[in-house]
Amino acid sequence: MLRFAPSPTGDMHVGNLRVAIFNYIVARQKGEKLLIRIEDTDKERNIEGKDKEILDILNLFGIKYDQVVYQSSNFHIHQQMAKRLLENKKAFVCFCDEEELNFQREKAKLEKRPYRYSGKCENLTKAQVEELMKKKKPFVIRIKKPENDIEFKDLIKGDMKFTPFEVDSFVILRGDYTPTYNFACAIDDMLYDISLVIRGEDHLSNTPKQIHIRNSLGYDKEIKYAHLPIILNEEGKKLSKRENHASVKWLLEEGYLPEAIANYLILLGNSFEREVFTLEEAIEFFDLTKISRSPAKFDIEKLKFLNKEHMKRLKELHKIIGAHPSYEKLLEIFRDESDTLKEIKEKFDKIFKPAEDDEFKEQREILKEEILKGELEENYDEFKKRLMKNTGLKGKNLFMPLRELLINQKHGAEIKDLYSAMKPYLKEVIKTR
Ligand code: GLU
Repeated sequence: MLRFAPSPTGDMHVGNLRVAIFNYIVARQKGEKLLIRIEDTDKERNIEGKDKEILDILNLFGIKYDQVVYQSSNFHIHQQMAKRLLENKKAFVCFCDEEELNFQREKAKLEKRPYRYSGKCENLTKAQVEELMKKKKPFVIRIKKPENDIEFKDLIKGDMKFTPFEVDSFVILRGDYTPTYNFACAIDDMLYDISLVIRGEDHLSNTPKQIHIRNSLGYDKEIKYAHLPIILNEEGKKLSKRENHASVKWLLEEGYLPEAIANYLILLGNSFEREVFTLEEAIEFFDLTKISRSPAKFDIEKLKFLNKEHMKRLKELHKIIGAHPSYEKLLEIFRDESDTLKEIKEKFDKIFKPAEDDEFKEQREILKEEILKGELEENYDEFKKRLMKNTGLKGKNLFMPLRELLINQKHGAEIKDLYSAMKPYLKEVIKTR
């Protein structure tokens, strides 16, 4: 089984969506199930409704999953496992308070070395522990650091090795008996029999800790790992959550199609023979192990290109835009000169609005009167001939105000195409100008 493990603590980032997509593709390739695990262990940071929003986004993108679990529903198991580690002397009760720990952190800083737990409570006797507990001294549970290096082979990054010093004796259960992220994650990956973890590179240093937890519990089934390189913004810095196009919701609101966003995220850091494809098509040729090891740069221009390509495949644009079927041909014209759905919608909404530009006001009035007066010609050339003859306008003075009458824009599609698409309702539109 594979899993996607989002935290319900904010808007879905494109990096998270990419992780979800890759997990889905690989699960399908391997014929394994996909679990969605909502990592709600940090009560303070959870935002109500984000879990639902994440699932809605997955559905919208066509990421099918087999099961959804909330990590908090397994707290009792996490607690049992911590107890087992204590009994087996793989973990210990730690009474060090914040003041003590801060002192150690400051000391490490002054001595210019990374902070690690001092080991102070590791050798407390059973009697000492009972004594302190009787006094109601607050405590946490720490796992003992490993005796040997933790090694694993990452499918993307290659061979990895972490020393016991790097892993450290870290907290697995907090004072309120809730598990820390690493503990809950390591246990759940074991409980649900996860075969491969695909996640962001920012979790790389958590992996030896999670492996160490399972080793300490005696779980000897190997879980494979693939850590995806981070996504950079156009300036080459880490694409932060606060940047607009990092948010999946924002991209959707801007009128990028789910098909195009998925296509873009699969392409990012990869090279295939074809550039334009659907998520389902990618299952045929995607190879997780071929992903570039270096960070990928988010390129909005490339996303626009893919969006245009996927927009070309859309049928029944009027339904998507929310317009009457008679406007389909016009919407197709707008589609061919737009990058996003939002742009099409804006162009469409404009056709029912009064003209805003004064440059050709006079010419517009003359043309409007002439058009509303006669019957519309079948053929655009004849229509044009009549307008030129009866108004005396030509060149820029004819085309710009005429295009404004049709679509409320001076520049844009060929008037010939607009005329044939709009003929059935052309007079109605012109009246609103
Ligand atoms: N909840 C973590 C996150 O959203 C993912 C942890 C994991 O995949 O192991 O970054």
